[in-house]
Amino acid sequence: MGTPAVLAIEQGTTGSTCLVIGEDGRVLGRAYSEFTQYFPKPGWVEHDADEIWSVTSRVAREALNAASTASGGTRADVRGIGITNQRETIVVWDRATGRPVHRAIVWQDRRTAGICRELKEAGHEKSVRAKTGLVLDPYFSGTKLTWLLRENPELRARAEAGELAAGTIDTWLIHKLTGGAVHATDPTNASRTLLYALESGGWDQGLCDLLEVPRALLPEVRRSSGDFGVSVGDAIGIEVPVAGVAGDQQAALYGQGCWKAGLAKNTYGTGAFLLLHTGSEAVASEHGLLTTAACDETGGPAFALEGSVFIAGAAIQWLRDGLRVLDAAPESEAMARTVEGTDGVYFVPAFVGLGAPHWEAEARGTIVGLTRGTSRAHLVRAALEAMAYGTAEVLHAQERDSGVAATELRVDGGASTNDFLMEFQAGLLGIPVRRPSMVETTALGAAGLAGLATRVWRSPSDFRAGIESTVFEPRMEATERRRLTAGWSRAVRAAKSWAADHDADRDRDAAVM
Ligand code: ADP
Repeated sequence: MGTPAVLAIEQGTTGSTCLVIGEDGRVLGRAYSEFTQYFPKPGWVEHDADEIWSVTSRVAREALNAASTASGGTRADVRGIGITNQRETIVVWDRATGRPVHRAIVWQDRRTAGICRELKEAGHEKSVRAKTGLVLDPYFSGTKLTWLLRENPELRARAEAGELAAGTIDTWLIHKLTGGAVHATDPTNASRTLLYALESGGWDQGLCDLLEVPRALLPEVRRSSGDFGVSVGDAIGIEVPVAGVAGDQQAALYGQGCWKAGLAKNTYGTGAFLLLHTGSEAVASEHGLLTTAACDETGGPAFALEGSVFIAGAAIQWLRDGLRVLDAAPESEAMARTVEGTDGVYFVPAFVGLGAPHWEAEARGTIVGLTRGTSRAHLVRAALEAMAYGTAEVLHAQERDSGVAATELRVDGGASTNDFLMEFQAGLLGIPVRRPSMVETTALGAAGLAGLATRVWRSPSDFRAGIESTVFEPRMEATERRRLTAGWSRAVRAAKSWAADHDADRDRDAAVM
């Protein structure tokens, strides 16, 4: 007998990571591999579901092998499997053969923009939003099914006859792990399909009718921490319960210990993903945020508000690769500290428009306040500060929507290793920022959900007991916070007025023509 452990499968957009996590929270084995991205037409993104399975199952075996040969005497006794996955990507397969009938259509795929437009023009946006907490955008899975069945009448007939099964990647992996015995998903994944009603917690017939999706296609929705069947021996070589499932952002929220209203997590990567837990209440947003299913402390149903900043760490990448003012992203920290402030320089990295809470698609990157004294250190510092300002705007929108005040921000992602950024973020928000030593919070969340159901951990707090963290306390005067925030708002107005001028020019040109 070794140390009780859980296998966490993190099935991401570009690769699969598997971690074996012991009861003390240590990683006992790990493996990672990428898989193929298909771009058949502009705006289309596909994955081969069979390849996802072959890569994921190989990586799972490698992680299990690594854990069983781990030096230091701790051999893992894996009791359960947790899955976390790229969300909104959809697979359809033949129930009889288990073979996919089409490549998986990935969340990034924009082919259903026309279907979304059609639904909006028919006036459905408001009711869809009220039921699902989402907006009519190709990002979500539902219209991908609409597209597939419209394109292939034969598939529609088979779907209606109950011969086909559909699911997000969690559902596909559960299917493969259990040898086809279980067709299930969890609320966090279901809530990203446009077919799931948040309040009632189930598939909604009206939404299925609207999106022309036969109910017979859809998986059973089960609790995120619970029973998703048992893996068959020839899947990854172990026969244990599949006991935890959550979409990547919600798994990270769970892994960060954000289990009740007021706790928020932010992932500082290419962009930033911010989720605020709102407890048992599904809060409708008035600031263009999404309402989404999340987990309470035992993995039961709960809700969160979700908002993202399109460009976060990518602004540092641009300074590195585009302007070449940095050799490596981590250098930004020391460089930012060489100056006291940005000397009035603000950098709004709206390279692809502004997301929540502004929603200004035509805005573009804007640097204001330049003088002869501006140095690259000021620019780098302004780019780091921009991540904190963008995060604060989304968090404040979430607070306004929910009436819940955030008490602490928990952080992860590549740029969260930057201490300057974390200090500035804490100061700007006026609340502590907590960064765990275990940065793989997404996999940890999946492990926690599975480990609770399989008694690797007796209680939710047990599973995070071994996780240490660094806390950045706010150290900024309120007057300074107000001054900086006002400067940022002014810079955002500049970026927006650039967009508004563009719109005005276009209107004038149209009038002349
Ligand atoms: P993703 O998963 O979105 O690819 P990661 O979580 O790996 O992103 O984070 C990478 C991003 O973080 C890059 O955009 C990079 O510029 C930025 N980054 C990485 N390290 C630092 C750092 N020390 N300071 C600031 N930005 C950083």
